[in-house]
Amino acid sequence: MPGFELFSNEEKKEVQDVLDNGVLMRYGFDGLRNGHYKAASLEKDFALKMQTKYAQVVSSGTAAVTVALACAEIGHGDEVIIPTFTFVASFEAILAVGAIPILCDIDDTLTLNPEAVAQLITPKTKAIMPVHMCGSMANLKALKLLCDTHDLVLVEDACQAIGGTYDNKPLGSYGDIGCFSFDYVKTITCGEGGGLITNTEKYADRAHKYQDHGHDHVGNDRGAESHPFLGYNYRLSELNAAVGIAQLRKLDQTIALQKKNYTILRNALTDIPEVTFRTVPETGVESYAFLSIFLPNETLARATHKALGAHGVDACFYWFDNNWHYYKKWEHLLESKSLVKFSQEIQTGLQKNKRTYPDSDAWMGRTVSCLIKVGWTEAEVQERAKNMVAAIKSTVLIAQE
Ligand SMILES: *Cc1c(COP(=O)(O)O)cnc(C)c1O
Repeated sequence: MPGFELFSNEEKKEVQDVLDNGVLMRYGFDGLRNGHYKAASLEKDFALKMQTKYAQVVSSGTAAVTVALACAEIGHGDEVIIPTFTFVASFEAILAVGAIPILCDIDDTLTLNPEAVAQLITPKTKAIMPVHMCGSMANLKALKLLCDTHDLVLVEDACQAIGGTYDNKPLGSYGDIGCFSFDYVKTITCGEGGGLITNTEKYADRAHKYQDHGHDHVGNDRGAESHPFLGYNYRLSELNAAVGIAQLRKLDQTIALQKKNYTILRNALTDIPEVTFRTVPETGVESYAFLSIFLPNETLARATHKALGAHGVDACFYWFDNNWHYYKKWEHLLESKSLVKFSQEIQTGLQKNKRTYPDSDAWMGRTVSCLIKVGWTEAEVQERAKNMVAAIKSTVLIAQE
């Protein structure tokens, strides 16, 4: 997944443009910037690449989700359904706009189970937010149907899945708003950065204002701009945007390399009867950011994760125990620990999350995910495949004894 593996002179050249004129801010200073508008230019490239009418870059993926929710007028006391397997940013963004994250069970796609989502919809529900963890997606068609039926917004958190598709559409462009992260470990990186895409003019228009203090961006004089509504500062700097421009150009190449390496590793594991693979919904194509496998049970999954490390297969994750990515370790969320006091309504809403998630535990307990890098040589991938097979076979054999 990491775009930082492909850092080169292209990024330096784009950044140099910005440093040469010294205008690090995306708006204004027109006379000084020698025609360089890196953030605006990244937005143009991004919308084109994602086949959407609009794109808005912001300062992070967390900011992207926050801005998306605000643009959809989701706020105090509204409920947003998210999976138990995600990144803490999902619920942080929801709470940032005053809404309540409602955790929902996942299935063998490792993301939202549409049937479980349907059970959680209440009159307060305003959005469903599937998170395309590790490069693959939920059954988005079923989620969209739920949104259409109940008049909800479908916000895709595609932060880990840029380059994947669903129904021949780039991931992130299928729902109402798609959110991306360009942080340091993502498939393309700006250092820190993020973006939203949408085909809805209303959302795009609100997004550019909201991420810049509510400025309407009419005319050339920032001091004379009006503020149709309140906003915040989620702007991306020109330096970060410059890096993003060069990284985005490499997206197709990055995905092709991920696919190649993923395929070699996956093919090596297909003959091991104890290994099955994460389900990718019909019409979905992964971004190949991770290879996620299921072992028959939690004991074997834990042993496999350990054995992979012992066999020198690095960057494999047992998410079930992970502090950032699985609800079991989100004590701060489950216990409503906050520096600022939550209203009674929010606290009561958050209490809903203190229950069991047997399906999530069952799937995550059996899952091991291995990061796919793009910098491996062919020989390194082959060696890795061999080590993975040896590691898994060693655990499975021990279990049979
Ligand atoms: C990285 C990530 C985010 C947040 O992105 P930042 O740019 O780090 O704020 C949100 N959701 C998911 C699924 C992520 O992986």
